[in-house]
Amino acid sequence: MIIPGFTGGLLDRADHMRNDADAMAAAIGNWQARLLKLHAWEPEVTDEGRLGWTMLTEASEEAEFVLLGLDGGRPRFAAFEPAAGPAPGFRSPDLFGMLDRLQEGEAATFAAARSVLDWHARHRFCANCGAPTAMIRAGWARRCEPCGTEHFPRVDPVVIMIAEHDGRALLGRQPSWPAGRYSALAGFVEPGESIEEAVRREIAEEAGVRVGAVRYVASQPWPFPSQLMIACIGVAEGDALTVDTSELETAGWFTRDEVRAALAGDADAPFGAPPRYAIAHSLLSEWVA
Ligand SMILES: [Zn+2]
Repeated sequence: MIIPGFTGGLLDRADHMRNDADAMAAAIGNWQARLLKLHAWEPEVTDEGRLGWTMLTEASEEAEFVLLGLDGGRPRFAAFEPAAGPAPGFRSPDLFGMLDRLQEGEAATFAAARSVLDWHARHRFCANCGAPTAMIRAGWARRCEPCGTEHFPRVDPVVIMIAEHDGRALLGRQPSWPAGRYSALAGFVEPGESIEEAVRREIAEEAGVRVGAVRYVASQPWPFPSQLMIACIGVAEGDALTVDTSELETAGWFTRDEVRAALAGDADAPFGAPPRYAIAHSLLSEWVA
């Protein structure tokens, strides 16, 4: 079974506590409560491959606590620091190396914390009336008092897919990627579109290939800042390519043996595979299996 990166979180999200002020106060006062350590939006990784945690008293006076969940009954929080601002658009080159050292399930907790804290930083004002909003539901929503609107953390669905034709998979390359890397095509699902329709539209736009049947494979949260990556395989009706060079540098068809070699990191593989943490890696592994 394929376990995509950033999934398999071990915390109980404890939804029943989110609207219970007494339970939240007790959780914050619990001697076993801990705060996720984040330095410039990156986690601390212990020698055992666990996330680093500290006492809630390490947060600033202005901090508001987001209840990430319960670890065997022990409350686990992240601190929203209003003065810190949103997460940067770039990611440190060290981050994926750090995530690689984490035990299974730990990265999911980091992903949830990073996405929800960044959402708070970007949604301090009401999108409906412009007034300041306040955190509610233990950090899993914000409310605007003047107009009564509640705002919930964003999750932005993205389809990521290969087309397959005659035993080969369609992969593309963006100019910003490391030299030689190819990966699945991807794009945001638009309002009024199903997952299958988004897959067909994106492959047609980026590579000029018509796709019929679409099969869902797996999904993963991607906390940069808040995508839900939905991996699919579509059956192409032909293999002629018309690449949209505003989206892709190039695209091509690869056999299972070629994709296997890339996933294994073989020196003579025809391309470099996407990193293990990306669901494109899981998708290609599924396709060659
Ligand atoms: Zn409002």
